[in-house]
Amino acid sequence: MKTVNDYREIVGDKIISDLYKKSRKLSGKSVVHINSTYYGGGVAEILSSLVPLMNDVGLDAGWRTLRGSPDVFSITKKFHNALQGDPIHLTSIKKKLYTETNEDFSTYTHLDHDFVIIHDPQPLPLIKFYKRKQPWIWRCHIDLSHPNEKLWHFLKGFILQYDDVIISHESYRNNIPFEEKIISPVIDPLTPKNMDLSERTINKYLHKYKIPTDKPLITQISRFDKWKDPIGVINTFKLVKEKVDCRLILCGSMAGDDPEGIKIFENVERKANNLIEKGDVILLNFDNNILVNILQRISDVIIQKSIREGFGLTITEALWKETPVVASNVGGIPLQITDGEDGFLFEPNDLDGFAKKIIEILKDPEAYKEVGKKGKEKVRNNFLITRLLGDYLDLLNETLDCR
Ligand code: UDP
Repeated sequence: MKTVNDYREIVGDKIISDLYKKSRKLSGKSVVHINSTYYGGGVAEILSSLVPLMNDVGLDAGWRTLRGSPDVFSITKKFHNALQGDPIHLTSIKKKLYTETNEDFSTYTHLDHDFVIIHDPQPLPLIKFYKRKQPWIWRCHIDLSHPNEKLWHFLKGFILQYDDVIISHESYRNNIPFEEKIISPVIDPLTPKNMDLSERTINKYLHKYKIPTDKPLITQISRFDKWKDPIGVINTFKLVKEKVDCRLILCGSMAGDDPEGIKIFENVERKANNLIEKGDVILLNFDNNILVNILQRISDVIIQKSIREGFGLTITEALWKETPVVASNVGGIPLQITDGEDGFLFEPNDLDGFAKKIIEILKDPEAYKEVGKKGKEKVRNNFLITRLLGDYLDLLNETLDCR
């Protein structure tokens, strides 16, 4: 099991000793996290790192997942999209199935912990079915700033019963009558996606996935999604290629049940057909964390040409690997990159700006080593799992003090 001590070499003694100090008053207190899946998605990934670390510093932390039928999870997926502005046909059947699933779960799930932390909307209604003896915190990872009004009205019926709401970004706020707290996302430097890798492992993967390294590489790691602008990336690449011989990799794992992703992938494949045939553009759709890690390490430039972005964990991951990042000035990206210092920012439609900077980096990679190093330090100081653990300890201490 991972312990906070494992991170000492990465973050230094002071951070580790602070974590122990913060946890002193919380020693032996029990906390349960509830979300809707043990595998897949950022929330499960974070919880699998966070929960063992909470235990390691002396809390009694647990993790449960809501049990429900595929029907109810297809409804909560619609809720997820509608919270981000999509239309939804909010019927009483949908509301009933959602609420009843939570009620059923409550009949066999004892919650006598000192703190209950609910992640995202799926288990949100649980609060209604317990006699509340402890603080309940809703940790929402979704942008709430433009929700579907009817759905928001319905969900607020549950949200208002909570003691605290945590969101990921200032711009995700909405009008609830208490201050949402902000905890920005982080990466875990010891997971397969971010850990250091040996030359041997890297070479083995490059061989297995047939990734050539004879020319400079530009890579975007992103779902095939219109907001990630894969066509814009190809057009930028064409401008770069006029000046420097190089390759582009678009890597985006795809859920088989995501029809939109498949359509966009096929569209990119059609549009870049010539370039793909020549081997100038490589499309990858494998779901493999080590491969992502390797691409972020071996690329000469990581591009992230999003039109809209949440926080942008791909940026955090790439900065951690000291690879120069050229990205859009949207969403959480400017929180992570100070333009010209530890990366480069352009407006999403400024293809010439993107291309010019990428050409400069490819022509003189040595000159950008320092930028890469600063990027890694930015992540070390702000966006690692140890910071998240500290944020949760602060939150639980504050909640304890307020009672
Ligand atoms: N990701 C991955 N494989 C891929 C594409 C993306 O594992 O082929 C991961 C990526 O490494 C990151 C996450 O998916 O951890 C994407 O998070 P981000 O915040 O960048 O964007 P989102 O997809 O949530 O909009």
